[in-house]
Amino acid sequence: MAHRWGMSVDLDRCTGCEACVVACHAENNIPTAGPDEAARGRAKHWMRVERYWEGEFPDVRLKFRPVLCQQCESAPCEPVCPTYASSHTSEGLNAQIYNRCIGTRYCANACPYNVRFFNFYNPVWERPLDLQLNPDVSIREQGVMEKCTFCVQRIRGAQHQARLGDRPVQDGDITPACAQSCPSEAIVFGDLHDKTSRVAQLSADPRGYHVFEALNTKPGITYLARVVHEQEA
Ligand code: SF4
Repeated sequence: MAHRWGMSVDLDRCTGCEACVVACHAENNIPTAGPDEAARGRAKHWMRVERYWEGEFPDVRLKFRPVLCQQCESAPCEPVCPTYASSHTSEGLNAQIYNRCIGTRYCANACPYNVRFFNFYNPVWERPLDLQLNPDVSIREQGVMEKCTFCVQRIRGAQHQARLGDRPVQDGDITPACAQSCPSEAIVFGDLHDKTSRVAQLSADPRGYHVFEALNTKPGITYLARVVHEQEA
C-alpha cells in the first residue's frame, strides 16, 4: 500500500465550535434536514461533534469529540455489502461507490461508529443555494448510502498536482475541509506510512487512542486524549 491516509484529532485543542461540521457540509454537498426529518432520524452529518459532561453542577466539565468515518482497516461495513459498494481502496480508504449501492443499509447497521447515512429523499437546494454546490463532488440520490471519504476529491486533486509537477505528494499537500476550517488546528491529516509526516508522529503520541479499540476495526483516526490538570480533575 503506497499510502495509508489517516487523521489525528487532538481533543485537548477541540473547543466544540463545529466549524468542521459546517465545512464538511459545504465541501461535500450535504443537505441539511429540517426539524421533522431530524426527528425521524434522517439528519445527515458526515461529521458530528459529540458532547460529554463530567461531574455535577456547578462543577461540570464539558468534553467534545468530533466523530466521522474512522476509515477502518478491518471495516465492519465492507464484508456485509452485497454489491461491494462499500469497499477498501489501495490507499486505506473505505470507499463508498454510489452507483453500486442498492440501499440495503447493512453497512450502516454494521458500523459501530454510526457514521453512515442513508438518502431517504432526493436533496433539493433552493436558489441561490444551488450555486454554492461543489462541482468536484457528486450529489447523492435517494436510495444510496453516503459517508465521509476524508475529502477524497482533495486527495485526488493533490495527487494530480503532484503528478503534473513530477514529484511525490508531500506532507501538508492535502487538507480535508474539516482540518482546513478548524481554528485550533485540532485535526491533522496525512499519510500514516510516511513516518516523518505530522499525522504519523501525532498518532504515535502517548495520548493517542482509537475509539472502540477492542473491536479490532483498526481505525485510521487517532484521538489524542484531553489532558486533565489536577485542579481540573
Ligand atoms: S472545528 Fe476544530 S475546534 Fe471546532 S469542533 Fe471541529 S475539531 Fe473541534
